[in-house]
Amino acid sequence: MGSWPMVDDSWEESKYHLTNLLVNTTITRHESMFFDIQNTPDFLKRDKNNTDKAIIHVMSLKSMFGEKFHEIYLDPEWHNEEIDIIREYLKMNVRHFMADAGISRNESAISDDIDEIIQFETQIVNLLKEASNNDPSDQLKFARISDLKEHFPLINWEHFMVEVYPAALESYILHNPRIVIQDTPLLTRVSELVSKTEPRIIVNYVMLRYALSWNNEIGTKYELLWQALESNILHENKVEMRWKNCMDIATKTMSHATGAMWLREYFDKESKSIVDQIVTDIRMTFIEILNENKWMGNETKQAAIVKVQQMTKHIAYPELEIDDKKLDKYYKHLHINPNLTFSDNYEQILNWHFVKGAYHILEPYEIEFITNSNDFEAEYIQEKNTIVISAPIIRAPFFDKDAPFSFNYAAIGSVIGHELIHGFDHEGMYYDEKGEYRDWWDESSKNEFYRRAECIVKQYSRVKVVDKKHRIDGNQTLIWCQNYEIRQQFHRLQSDEHSPGFARVNIPLANMPEFAKAYACPIGSRMNPSSRCTVWGDDVDPTTAYDDAKQIQMKEIAKLLLKKVHSAKSTITETPVMKSSKKKSKEESGEFSNNRILIWLTVVKILLVLIIGILGILLILTMPNRIVKLQRENLSNQNHRMPLMN
Ligand SMILES: [Zn+2]
Repeated sequence: MGSWPMVDDSWEESKYHLTNLLVNTTITRHESMFFDIQNTPDFLKRDKNNTDKAIIHVMSLKSMFGEKFHEIYLDPEWHNEEIDIIREYLKMNVRHFMADAGISRNESAISDDIDEIIQFETQIVNLLKEASNNDPSDQLKFARISDLKEHFPLINWEHFMVEVYPAALESYILHNPRIVIQDTPLLTRVSELVSKTEPRIIVNYVMLRYALSWNNEIGTKYELLWQALESNILHENKVEMRWKNCMDIATKTMSHATGAMWLREYFDKESKSIVDQIVTDIRMTFIEILNENKWMGNETKQAAIVKVQQMTKHIAYPELEIDDKKLDKYYKHLHINPNLTFSDNYEQILNWHFVKGAYHILEPYEIEFITNSNDFEAEYIQEKNTIVISAPIIRAPFFDKDAPFSFNYAAIGSVIGHELIHGFDHEGMYYDEKGEYRDWWDESSKNEFYRRAECIVKQYSRVKVVDKKHRIDGNQTLIWCQNYEIRQQFHRLQSDEHSPGFARVNIPLANMPEFAKAYACPIGSRMNPSSRCTVWGDDVDPTTAYDDAKQIQMKEIAKLLLKKVHSAKSTITETPVMKSSKKKSKEESGEFSNNRILIWLTVVKILLVLIIGILGILLILTMPNRIVKLQRENLSNQNHRMPLMN
């Protein structure tokens, strides 16, 4: 790893080698600090047989603590208290690291080093802030490995890639392959910053971030430091329960394995075929709507129908999650060793993931793997013309196989319809049945589409939200879930393509004559307006039910994982970590007593309302006497007129 100047006096600047430093942090923890290396699907190498190839993707860097902390670094003078907290947090960590390693060093020297790190991080955050205003056309660029030198000359990229990737890719890399770079201007600016900063600061910064990446794995004292930082700065006092952190890592890194466990225990496979049928029905209905459509040109209409017909679907789970053979093959090269530490196993998994992705650069892989049953996902993927509805959504409150069809069509049906329509919204309309970017619209159909879309934009723009002064940006309108705080609402009004829930329910229903008829809404009333908009269908979407269902699934997976742990536990003695997790589960039962408190509060509220109501009635009954009395007073003293009586 090389030495860390902050804690090691023998560090020499002459041995500074940025490429090697980043190779080491990347190989072990996949932390490359000034950029990030991933393998993503290469859309230019798409195969028509439902397979993909991957491509090397050089992604932008992330700041040390993520976006939530950016505000502090962008105005450090205003936020000097928070900067002090961050400084103290970093110092405490370094002190713990040194104590654990048996090293001691002068406190004030450490302070100086930490100050330099904070200054450097401030510059990084400023670069990220500037980059957020960059032209979106800079976001993704195809280039070659040799082009990276131009943007970040300090790194020997060929050497970096050869070292980081498995040996099987060496010749591929030496042939200077096509790659994707995210935000090249940002990469250039980061490179400029790194080259004008003293190597000592760079190494300290990289090593500290590298060390902090272990924070959740090396002991309670580090975890507590992090929790204190979060609660002091973000005022998030909720201490994440350890089982949730562990679950998060297990479900994210071994998604198909944990997904498979959950599926077998909690998912009724019959549901999959029912939802499959609902998707087919909705597709058919949309084709009928298109057939009856009077404003689309014939060729455009036919292209739209073909697009619906060829739209593929990924419902519930990928086959491998219910097929042990496939599942074993998928995890064949991953070796989890119960005798190794959690950290070691975690690194094994990280590495296995990276290598697996890397092999996809050479060998095509099945698109089927795009989802897993841990993912809470309903989406339409333009580039694949496919709908994804994952298993956790195919249950309450979105689906119940024993409920009437009317319920399921309203709940999960609206989710499916929503995703389908993304294939025909202002973005999806420019992708064809194969998911290729192509304009298949004739001019007059396109104009009519925009004219009709404009009607809906105006309708949504009239809706006031938040403080009743701001309105929805109708252009950003289409769908999804929430229960946001007011502050978040402002932000989302400007940035989210999905409008607030109530609007998504009321406007589409007001646009449906069937609704007004069923509920006998008076003509001209809000839900039965004299003018309606229609493009070809509207959508309704449920709300925070989403988050609740996700929480339930997490607990279910946790239970299954615990069962596994218990069956393997007989040989393991109880460690302090396990003890503290027991304590946490007691805290969890606190959730139930909280519920009881809520119930009592509600009872008290109801009683109060009753008492106030009775008092009000008494007041009204005694009113005539009081009025007479007041009028007498008025007559006697004109200056004491009671405005109340007007
Ligand atoms: Zn959507």
